[in-house]
Amino acid sequence: MSIKTITITGAAGQIGYQLAFRIASGQLLGQEEKINLKLLEIPAALDALNGVAMELDDCAFPCLETITATDNASVAFQDCDYAFLVGAKPRGPGMERSDLLLGNAEIFSAQGKAINAYANRNIKVLVVGNPANTNALIAMSNAPEISPNSFTAMMRLDHNRALAQLAAKTDAHVTDIKKLTIWGNHSTMQYPDIYHATVNDQKVINLISLDWIKNTFIPSVQQRGAQIIKLRGLSSAASAASAAMDHVRDWVFGTADNNWISMAIPSDGSYGISEGIIYSFPVICTNGSYEIVQALEINEFSEICLKASEAELLEERKAIEHLL
Ligand code: NDP
Repeated sequence: MSIKTITITGAAGQIGYQLAFRIASGQLLGQEEKINLKLLEIPAALDALNGVAMELDDCAFPCLETITATDNASVAFQDCDYAFLVGAKPRGPGMERSDLLLGNAEIFSAQGKAINAYANRNIKVLVVGNPANTNALIAMSNAPEISPNSFTAMMRLDHNRALAQLAAKTDAHVTDIKKLTIWGNHSTMQYPDIYHATVNDQKVINLISLDWIKNTFIPSVQQRGAQIIKLRGLSSAASAASAAMDHVRDWVFGTADNNWISMAIPSDGSYGISEGIIYSFPVICTNGSYEIVQALEINEFSEICLKASEAELLEERKAIEHLL
């Protein structure tokens, strides 16, 4: 039996609070794997973080070996095998998009450096904190001794949301739907692509009108987060934590046969997407690695959507280029 070190940043926040308990209970790596859990927060949230650590103690989870609550990144990333980078600066009143990018760039460049200096060389990093794709790019660029392929950003909530919408529309179960892709940036420019998707082995495009896909499905997936904030008064948290678990679990244990998932990863130029950005592609995971699904036919509508998301990510990169 081995011990894995798992780091969560922003661990006293909404998503971190869900994630910590699910991971510590063994839902990520299984009951056989012992866990050293390292929780990172900003100094102002340390009291809250210590409260979370006390609750984790009180759960008496069999696979939880140690809990470290800290505001020191070098402590939090020491020997880290899996990092969930959740903490990020939220958009404040009157804040420009560039301010948000720059504020987060500072956080993620410091964390990239700490990962480079202290983490396991085979670390797997999932960035959840927004703007997630560009935050992942910054962390990756600041960790030159770690493989770029260790850095990913979360598109899985968008993927899961799209599965749920399609399942409801086709009277199917989410597990009946395969080969769906969310391309691009985790923003409203993401592109939920159903052209290759199947429901019980039938092509989705043969079952549902293009009008519903373009005018109902795509906007509702893109705007689901805003809709939840409107109803709950808070942004989605449990579903985001659940998607983060799905992302890392599939990365570690592999994707199901005859299916793929959406992960934002360093672009290698596939599908004509510029290298040097973190872009979501359809991927298959095996033996702890991911590979982009190649040679899918991209029609004219999809091509426009893929390029629009790429353009947004290139613009985000321009705003923080001096920090790369
Ligand atoms: P949440 O836990 O709700 O969200 C954390 C981040 O996840 C936000 O950037 C949020 O983006 C993002 N996110 C990505 N996808 C989703 C999704 N689908 N639904 C909702 N959120 C998503 O934020 P809290 O404010 O509750 O907690 C953040 C914590 O991070 C705080 O405790 C803060 O102290 C901490 N923090 C820690 C840092 C560190 O460890 N160095 C640095 C900065 C902050 P969005 O804002 O767009 O909703």
